[in-house]
Amino acid sequence: MKMYDTLVLGAGPCGIRSAIVLKEAGLDIAVIEGYTPGGKINIAPRVDNYPGFTKIPGPDLAMEFFNWLNKANVEMIPDIITSLTKDNDIFTVTCENGSYQAKTVIIATGTKERELGLPNEKELFGKGVSYCAVCDGHFFKDQDILIIGGGNTALKEAIYMADIAHHVYLIHRRNEFRGNNYLVDELKALPNTTILTPYVPVSILGEDKVTGAVIENRETGEQKTLHVQGVFPLVGQIPNSQFIKIDGVTNEWGNIPVDPKTKQTSVEGLYAGGDILPRDIRQIYLSEVDGKMACKAILEYLKK
Ligand SMILES: Cc1cc2nc3c(=O)[nH]c(=O)nc-3n(C[C@H](O)[C@H](O)[C@H](O)COP(=O)(O)OP(=O)(O)OC[C@H]3O[C@@H](n4cnc5c(N)ncnc54)[C@H](O)[C@@H]3O)c2cc1C
Repeated sequence: MKMYDTLVLGAGPCGIRSAIVLKEAGLDIAVIEGYTPGGKINIAPRVDNYPGFTKIPGPDLAMEFFNWLNKANVEMIPDIITSLTKDNDIFTVTCENGSYQAKTVIIATGTKERELGLPNEKELFGKGVSYCAVCDGHFFKDQDILIIGGGNTALKEAIYMADIAHHVYLIHRRNEFRGNNYLVDELKALPNTTILTPYVPVSILGEDKVTGAVIENRETGEQKTLHVQGVFPLVGQIPNSQFIKIDGVTNEWGNIPVDPKTKQTSVEGLYAGGDILPRDIRQIYLSEVDGKMACKAILEYLKK
């Protein structure tokens, strides 16, 4: 089995930045990516605050990142990671189609959208329930849809969907939003949107496809039915860390605590960065900074 200096897990902003820095430093490395290079930016309707771009559609920025990775001649392994173990100072990364070994590893696999946990949410996934407006939005052209959540992701996806759908409802369990005020104002100014607070979803209606959703006012207990054909739960993320089979790396929520300076985890030679860390703000540049800091530490570690 081939032994790398470093394996980078995930080709989002953290993984791509890390891979380029390590490759330029002359290390023997590869990036393993199971889905779409560029990571979460691929599903961002637009990126508002990446230096150099005032506003850019997420998929376009993801393509810039991917081109940058290709130009650096970084080896890409397109595969889904199923386990990460460590034996005698060597890490083994097992994927669906092969296994690889490395002296050091950077975990940059980010997060995925949290499910609401409603009874028929799973059954109606792909039949009106979606976690990504950029991926599935066009299926809801001129239809009525419901977005659930109060963060920037929910607000941005609601603004994006207002351009496509007939009407967009957004419900949030609190009266105050976690997301930025300017996005709330932008959404409120759109003619075909309705914001309802403090509401929570009670059930998603439909058998073969979504036909509506029942929501409940948390203050009054009043329930109402929204006749929508699409439901987008955007209520937070869970870390993509289930494949880690080394004790003590993740915390109780599955995030990976790291040393703030080196980004090393509780295990020597194992580093992590980006959205998978326990943090309140998740941004592209933060993910890249994590990657850069981990690379510096890896170069020092490998010298030893
Ligand atoms: C709608 C939306 C809007 C956003 N807007 C902005 C914005 O305006 N500005 C901003 O700075 N940030 C924005 N963000 C946040 C930004 O996209 C993330 O902070 C950033 O992408 C995190 O980078 P990352 O490298 O940590 O993880 P990710 O980008 O999530 O990349 C992780 C990669 O790992 C891969 N992966 C995961 N598990 C496995 C596995 N088992 N096997 C193989 N590969 C795996 C994934 O496919 C993915 O490519 C937005 C996010 C969303 C969802």
